[in-house]
Order: sequence, then structure tokens, then C-alpha cells
Amino acid sequence: MDTNLIEAYYKLRQEIDAASVKLEKHHKNQIACKKGCSLCCESLRLFPLELAAIRQELGEYIQQLPKKRFRLNPKACRFLVNNVCTIYASRPIICRTQGLPLLYENKQGTGFEFSTCRLNFNEVAIESFNQDNALFMSPFNSRLFLLNQQFVKQINKKKTDSFSRFKLNSLG
Ligand code: SF4
Repeated sequence: MDTNLIEAYYKLRQEIDAASVKLEKHHKNQIACKKGCSLCCESLRLFPLELAAIRQELGEYIQQLPKKRFRLNPKACRFLVNNVCTIYASRPIICRTQGLPLLYENKQGTGFEFSTCRLNFNEVAIESFNQDNALFMSPFNSRLFLLNQQFVKQINKKKTDSFSRFKLNSLG
């Protein structure tokens, strides 16, 4: 496994964290996210590169996950316990940006699409968001996709391609 790709992933994660921290401070009065809220911890998927990076950081913990365990919500992430993320420092990129004001280039490339948690920014007009007060995700997502593409080529698994993703509710 090419550790350079995993290191490049960690660097990307750091950049996103740095941008996220600034936005969290800027919007602190409009963001309801807090420990114990797990509204966004279901139906998420992650790339093989991200899983490899988490495994590198938390190898034994991942291996010890029980194959099956009773869960009230089968869509909930395997790392969620009592509504708290048990791998918080190593959580995937998608988990690091949930709840922030996010902008994505639209399919036509003519403008932006906006996304955030339904609990946040209820008193703010969507039109007020731009690249200065929201996180423009498209360049980060492109970099993640390209890193993962290289990683998938290297691991060369028959059923895994650049678009394969693992469901966070069924890991283990
Ligand atoms: S990794 Fe953590 S933050 Fe991400 S979905 Fe799972 S429990 Fe939630």
C-alpha cells in the first residue's frame, strides 16, 4: 500500500479541518451541532482510501468491531455509540463538514448548490452564502476522488473501482 497516498489524504483532511474551524467560529450562533446529536450519522459512505486511512490510525479497534450487534437504527454508522462518535479524531471527511454551510458546483457548471443540516441556518437566506462564508466542497471532493482513484488502482481488487464506497452502517 502506498503510504504517500494516505499521507496526502491526511493533509487534505487537515486543510478541510482548518477551513471548517474558521467557519464554525464565524457561524457559531447559527450552528446547532453538538456532542450527542447524531442526526447526520446515518446512510453515509466512504471511499476505500478513507477506510485504509482510518484502519492505519485505528487498526485494532476496527478489527474488534463485532460482526453484528443490535442497533435501534440499522442505518446508523457502526462507530456511533450512545449518540457519540467513537472515532471522532479519525472520522471521514464527510463527517467533518456536516452541519456547515456547504457549496457545490452544480452539474451544468453555471452556479452553486447549497447544503447544510436542517437544524442550522434557519434564519439565514441561502442567497447570502458565497465562497467567503461557506465551504466550497467541489475542489476538496475532486482531490479526494483523484487520490482514491490512484489508491484503487494500486490495491487492484476485482470488485472495487473508483466509484466504490463502503457503507458506514455495515462495516465490521
Ligand atoms: S464516523 Fe463518527 S461522525 Fe462519522 S457517521 Fe460515524 S459516528 Fe458519525
